[in-house]
Amino acid sequence: MCMTTEMTTTEDDTKRSSDTHMKLPAEIGTDYTFKRKIVWFNAIGFLLLHLCGLYGVYRVFYANAATFLWMGVLALASGEGVTIGAHRLFSHKSFKATLALRMLLVILQTIAGQNCLYIWVRDHRQHHKYSDTDADPHNAYRGFFFSHVGWLMSRKHPAVISKGKTIDMSDLEADWIVMLQKKYYKPLYVVFALALPIFVPVYFWNETWWNSLFISYFLRYIVVLNITWLVNSAAHFYGMKPYDSTMRPSECMTVSILSQGEGWHNYHHTFPWDYRAAEFGTRVSLTTLTIDALAMLGFAYDLRTTSKKIIQQRVLRTGDGSHPISKSAAT
Ligand SMILES: [Zn+2]
Ligand SMILES: [Zn+2]
Repeated sequence: MCMTTEMTTTEDDTKRSSDTHMKLPAEIGTDYTFKRKIVWFNAIGFLLLHLCGLYGVYRVFYANAATFLWMGVLALASGEGVTIGAHRLFSHKSFKATLALRMLLVILQTIAGQNCLYIWVRDHRQHHKYSDTDADPHNAYRGFFFSHVGWLMSRKHPAVISKGKTIDMSDLEADWIVMLQKKYYKPLYVVFALALPIFVPVYFWNETWWNSLFISYFLRYIVVLNITWLVNSAAHFYGMKPYDSTMRPSECMTVSILSQGEGWHNYHHTFPWDYRAAEFGTRVSLTTLTIDALAMLGFAYDLRTTSKKIIQQRVLRTGDGSHPISKSAAT
């Protein structure tokens, strides 16, 4: 059995990564004269969602402590549905998962309520392929707010629409669980993201429907949303670039702590196939630790990593000099 076998990458992978980040964006770029059209329905919807979430903070003081704990459990589990499932498994195929694990991750990702996996993955693959250009759904050159949430309340740039059609989604189209979730996303959302989180505190410890709605649903929802969005915004603005100084994604400790290991973004954009999404695997990464545990139990296998040699070559070739390898090479 090779369930926990770790696979390292080839020179081809590295070249493909370099091509993705260094050639395509330069060809497309950012047209600063382009005027975005606001989708008011979404803008008002997000505003109301956040107001309800903030009211949820207030309700915490009047709720059972177990409800707050439940919110934390849900936030963590649905967050892992995004980081392990939508991101590292389905977007980047950085490891393989058994049917049982894939089903669980689809359910957890549904709880997070960040659209169905199919759309999440398509947007994310497009983000990597056309990072920080007009073909990137959340192009960071359009500002912090746009890359954080503004992109979800604006009409898409024509380049996002045209290049979006070129993203290869054949692997997800061949996965019946992903396609089932896509087809029945709305009823699944109502059951897993809305009804289940609200029902549990009311049924098991007599929480009020009102508290449960605003804490287990609204507050939990906006916390996980904003943490996920910080990877697209803050981690494209702040931090060092030890692996590739030609791109915006950076090593952002704060985002890593909040997002359970998704903030080592310069590494991740340089070596996107690596299941650790960081050079130093488990450093501030509950996500990587969880994948390791799942591999030990046999639910995850064929974990892909990057060899030390390839990392070293890349650091010396394109890093900003902040990596220990660059520093020792300079002395
Ligand atoms: Zn990614
Ligand atoms: Zn990114």
